[in-house]
Amino acid sequence: MRKRDLDKFKKLLLMERQGIMQHLAELEGASETQLSQGGGDSVDLASLEITQAAIQKLGNREKNLLRKIEYALDKIENGEYGVCERCGEKIAPARLEARPVAQYCIDCKTELESNERRYSDQEEADEEGWGEMERFEGGGGGGGGDAS
Ligand SMILES: [Zn+2]
Repeated sequence: MRKRDLDKFKKLLLMERQGIMQHLAELEGASETQLSQGGGDSVDLASLEITQAAIQKLGNREKNLLRKIEYALDKIENGEYGVCERCGEKIAPARLEARPVAQYCIDCKTELESNERRYSDQEEADEEGWGEMERFEGGGGGGGGDAS
């Protein structure tokens, strides 16, 4: 993946993380000014200490998401970002834009999801809360017509 694209996804991930951090800070009673110091930059948040106790206050979905975001950021650093962890194919950029934490290409994801349903494992299902945008790539059926 090109550096420019990586930067873009990194930014998306950091923004998403910032949202969670902010929520976390609110739960912890931290002042908002402390968080907004960085202006539009989210770098300062990286140094914000997150205690396990604080994280426990987050909902499961946010905890999951936070973990996935950290994981995705790690992969960006390692140059492994954007590659399906199951089949090794590139993940479609549109999918990554809709959900920057995606670990699998849409084919693998679909397959894994049907397995998860079978075992009724909630963990990955929570990930779908990321955004409704997931729909446009998966269940579409090739129409391409929008509702407007
Ligand atoms: Zn795959």
